[in-house]
Amino acid sequence: MGNNELELGFKKILDGNKDWVNFVSGDTTGRFQQLAKGQSPEILWIGCADSRVPANEVTGKKPGEVFVHRNIANLCVHSDMSMLSVLDYAVNVLKVKHVIVAGHYGCGGVAASLSRKQFGIIDNWLCHIKDVYRLHAAEVDAIEDPEEKTNRLVELNVKEQVFNLCTTSIVQNAWKDREDLAVHGMVVNIGTGELIDLDSTFTSNEDLGDVFAYK
Ligand SMILES: [Zn+2]
Repeated sequence: MGNNELELGFKKILDGNKDWVNFVSGDTTGRFQQLAKGQSPEILWIGCADSRVPANEVTGKKPGEVFVHRNIANLCVHSDMSMLSVLDYAVNVLKVKHVIVAGHYGCGGVAASLSRKQFGIIDNWLCHIKDVYRLHAAEVDAIEDPEEKTNRLVELNVKEQVFNLCTTSIVQNAWKDREDLAVHGMVVNIGTGELIDLDSTFTSNEDLGDVFAYK
């Protein structure tokens, strides 16, 4: 890529912002002035970093309505301080009511985790998805079509990450104080835009099992 192309690309970013500034200045509802003072979103979205799954667009929400954390393959790793900090702030300060773990069909991270190829440092991150595969190897191995195989692991991965979130002390302690906190697992179909509920919602620690549910 030549320098001119780089400069042009950067200019387009700034031009895009000018369009946004015009939109904001033309808004007569006062919501942007309100947003400048603070936020009170009801949703925490933990999604894949993939550029095709933007949280606000997928959920039809405006700025200020979704608190967002994204990483490759929407993983909720127990010791990930970045995810835990976002979760703690969202649940205990912002008091969000819905935490959504959102995967997406055709996820490159999930597909890569099913291969034996090395991709670099990311292999160690993707190994968390291989851990999910290990729990469901028989089911996943029985699927022949590689795309379907990936998509099933996408769903299983979301469910596992929902479970991981629910087992955190953060979510379990929040449930001790309030009943209005739900953790959902969902998958985005990029081709249709549909957000599919995987019917794996938790609203208490009752179904986590003896070892995982704190007293
Ligand atoms: Zn992805």
